[in-house]
Amino acid sequence: MLVMKFGGTSVGSADAIRNLGKIVKKQLDKKPIVVASAVSKVTDLLIETSKLAAGDDYSQNLKKLKEKHQEIIKSLNLNIPEVNTLLAELEHQLNMIKNSRQLTAETLDLIQSCGERISVCIVAAHLQSIGINSKPYNAYDIGMITNSNFGEAEITLAAPVEINKKITSILKANAKKELHSAHVPVITGFIGKDKNGKITTLGRGGSDYSAAIIGAAINADEIQIWTDVSGVYSADPRIVKNARKIEKISFAECSELAYFGAKVLHPKTILPAMNKNIPVKVLNTFEPENSGTIILSEMKKSDEIVKALTCKKNITLININSTRMLFAYGFLARVFYVFDKYNISVDMISTSEVSMSLTIDKDMNLDKAVEELNQIATTNIVRNKAIVCVVGVGLKNETGIAGKIFSLMGQHKINVEMISQGASEINISFVVENDEAEKAVKLLHREFVEEYQ
Ligand code: ASP
Ligand code: MG
Repeated sequence: MLVMKFGGTSVGSADAIRNLGKIVKKQLDKKPIVVASAVSKVTDLLIETSKLAAGDDYSQNLKKLKEKHQEIIKSLNLNIPEVNTLLAELEHQLNMIKNSRQLTAETLDLIQSCGERISVCIVAAHLQSIGINSKPYNAYDIGMITNSNFGEAEITLAAPVEINKKITSILKANAKKELHSAHVPVITGFIGKDKNGKITTLGRGGSDYSAAIIGAAINADEIQIWTDVSGVYSADPRIVKNARKIEKISFAECSELAYFGAKVLHPKTILPAMNKNIPVKVLNTFEPENSGTIILSEMKKSDEIVKALTCKKNITLININSTRMLFAYGFLARVFYVFDKYNISVDMISTSEVSMSLTIDKDMNLDKAVEELNQIATTNIVRNKAIVCVVGVGLKNETGIAGKIFSLMGQHKINVEMISQGASEINISFVVENDEAEKAVKLLHREFVEEYQ
């Protein structure tokens, strides 16, 4: 079995949905289950409209939402009464917000759910129109049970078993009816229901997560994430002209890259699949012949030493010095207690016996934290720095690689300020000036990716 998730842009226009249809048709023999996001920009628009409804006139936004969907339906030559019902429900909910003048997290989730509930109706109707036996399903009707953390809900322990049961019975029931054609369920991404029957959402971009949860629950052979890029690249193509698409990447490598802005997938969202060793493929709806990138839960060896390079600009470096650290225990705990107290997330760390450096990417609450840190140490804050990150499973087995990286920086007069190599040894990161970061990435790419064949 196969789970195919289509993101917002992949259901964002009649043409995109036609591509989707062809893609599904080609793989019917693998018994696909489709998971769909809302039409692109619709979730943003739903959130904006809900907020507007609490105080202002929202009719223009509502009109836009209706037109966006109706236009796609019309171009696909479809007639879907269920979509009109959903749009009417949406209008009713917005009206309730207007009357009560308040928007709760619960209502916001209910309104956001309309995006996916509408898109699955369109996708299933299109598949049906091209001869694929298909039906739309709301994820909560096939077992996506979550806690009540509206806006960022988590599935319950019982959910996977329930999903497996429900999907198996849907496929069985429909197989009996239509012996000759596969039944393709089209399931809403992003949403679920709590035990009180209230609709919840799994957090922005949550459809990937839905796909992974469903794939893991039914023990799929593969999960395909269809999007608008052809996979994960060896560097940001806007920075490095010769960046190339990575064929295979491990979950660990992919996670390192995600933090540094390779926006293809949030690692958390594919964890359920990785835990079950189910490969996740990133593919391009607008270039379906491209083999994309395959993400595997583990990869012991790799042909390349360096797989990818990224950089993250505008980070803040904090240097903390204290002689109290020497021979003492509990010092690091006190430092991190302060960051925790002010909700500051620390990214990179490196320590010596009397000093430590760390990086953060949001300055919020930093003043207060520094005031407290100054009671136990001397701190110094440096802004406008960048982290350059070199990633690859191959780094583990290669001797002398750090030497090569830093002499390359030295040769080109790029000053390196802080260095860190994680315990996993698949990542070497260092801090440079903001305006040298791209140069560093280009140099490293040329040396370790382009020249290394
Ligand atoms: N429609 C939701 C969002 O835009 C979920 C998704 O696209 O994954 O966040
Ligand atoms: Mg999305």
